[in-house]
Formats: sequence, C-alpha cells, structure tokens
Amino acid sequence: MTHSALSIKNLSYYYGERCALNELSVDIAEGVFFGLLGPNGAGKTTLMSLLTRLLKPASGEITVFNYALNKQANQAMRNIGVVFQQSTLDFDLSVAQNLAYHGALHGIAPKEVRIRIHQELTRFDLADRQHERVRNLNGGHRRRVELARALLHRPKLLLLDEASAGLDIDTRASLNRHLRHLCRDEGIAALWTTHLIEEIHEDDQLLILNGGRSLAQGQVQTLLSEHDAKNLPALFSQLTRPAA
Ligand code: ATP
Repeated sequence: MTHSALSIKNLSYYYGERCALNELSVDIAEGVFFGLLGPNGAGKTTLMSLLTRLLKPASGEITVFNYALNKQANQAMRNIGVVFQQSTLDFDLSVAQNLAYHGALHGIAPKEVRIRIHQELTRFDLADRQHERVRNLNGGHRRRVELARALLHRPKLLLLDEASAGLDIDTRASLNRHLRHLCRDEGIAALWTTHLIEEIHEDDQLLILNGGRSLAQGQVQTLLSEHDAKNLPALFSQLTRPAA
C-alpha cells in the first residue's frame, strides 16, 4: 500500500491584500518525484515557506505522513528535508562541519552523525572533499552538499525550491537525475519546484501553478491528452497565457 507523503488541502496565503496562494490542494505519495512548475510570482516560494513553517497559512491544512503540520509540528518536520532556493550553508565551515551542525540540531548522536556524513557524502561523490571549506567548492558541489545535509536526518519527504537555479546545464541535469534515483530506490517523495520545463519528464506527476492557483495537476502525459497539447511547453504556454 502506498502512503501519502504530503497532503495539502485548500491552502491559502495572503501578503496583506495580495493573494499569493488560492485554495491549493495537492497530494504526493511516497516515492514520487513530483514537479511543481510555475512562472515567476506563481507562489512556489510562498508554498515552500508554508510547508517549512516560515509562514502560517491563512486557511487550509498541511499533512506530512499523516501528521498535521500545525498540531504535530515536530513529528511532521522530522520527516521533511529541505533545499532552499538560496544556499543556507556556512561558507567558512568545512563540508563536514556544515553537516555535523545540522545533525546536532536534529539531536543525532555525534558518532552516528559521523557515520551518516560519510554515507551521504559518499552517495554524492564528495567524501574526499569533506574537510574543504564550502567556499572553495563550485556551485554544483555546494548543491550536492545541501542535498547531503537535507538527507542526514533521513527524511521521507524532500522539498526543493528551485534547487537547480544558477547551475550549468549538465550539473542541473545530473542533480535532477540524482533526485529521481532517490525517489525510485529509497521511496523518498520529492517536491521539485522549478520554472524550467525541461526538468519535467512526461511520466512525472506535475502541478502547474500560476497566480497562486492550480491550473493543472496530474501525470504529464494525461494532462497533455486532456488539454490536447502536443508537449509540455505547449501546454504550459496554453495554460499560463494571459487572457486576451
Ligand atoms: P519566483 O519564481 O520569482 O521565485 P514564486 O513562484 O516563488 O516566484 P512567490 O515568491 O511565492 O512566487 O510570490 C507569489 C506572489 O506573492 C507574487 O505576486 C509576489 O510578488 C508576492 N510576494 C511574495 N513575497 C511577498 C512579500 N514578502 N510581500 C508582498 N508580496 C509578496
């Protein structure tokens, strides 16, 4: 039986009078790579901030592996790993120190933290860089460190807010591939927000968000046939085109 990793029901958020998210509902099952595609200002970062409790919803419910985010925050948050749009690494600390700090914040015993740091850095091909300062790494390596850190407390749901922004094409593609392997091999659910259509595949689950509203949701191939669109770029422009 597949479990629900993330369930969002009728979620709304306002900045003053401006509605940034309007009655959004989304369900993501465990092990699923779920794409969230939206142009600038669609509400992607607002959604991420609500999912990580940086913002409080005006209305609606968020449930993570059946824990209500507002009422059972600790249990819900323990299941979440986050990679924010902007790097949150300390550039003057080494790779291992950044990860150890995260491990300590999650209450993981130091010996176990050392084991997990080695495991995660090996997974991302960075074990030999663990004593280097983050400042000396290139952008792609830093992103991999952030992913390794996000996985250190063994979350089952990863939230990635434009995690590939600013990376070159090859590094972006490799990061995207890596995430898909994590979902497939380890049953981790990933919410991958982006405004880059090429990062979404035809068999992905997808939400197209614009102006805080869900414009389409489901498997890409199904959406294409429902909307009679020849490919995802065509569907995206058909749905997000301003009314004449
Ligand atoms: P981008 O791709 O440009 O990062 P986004 O999809 O992440 O965009 P949000 O940053 O969530 O979109 O913004 C959603 C809407 O809320 C936009 O209209 C934006 O101008 C507005 N907004 C975002 N942050 C604030 C704020 N702090 N105060 C007022 N309005 C805001």
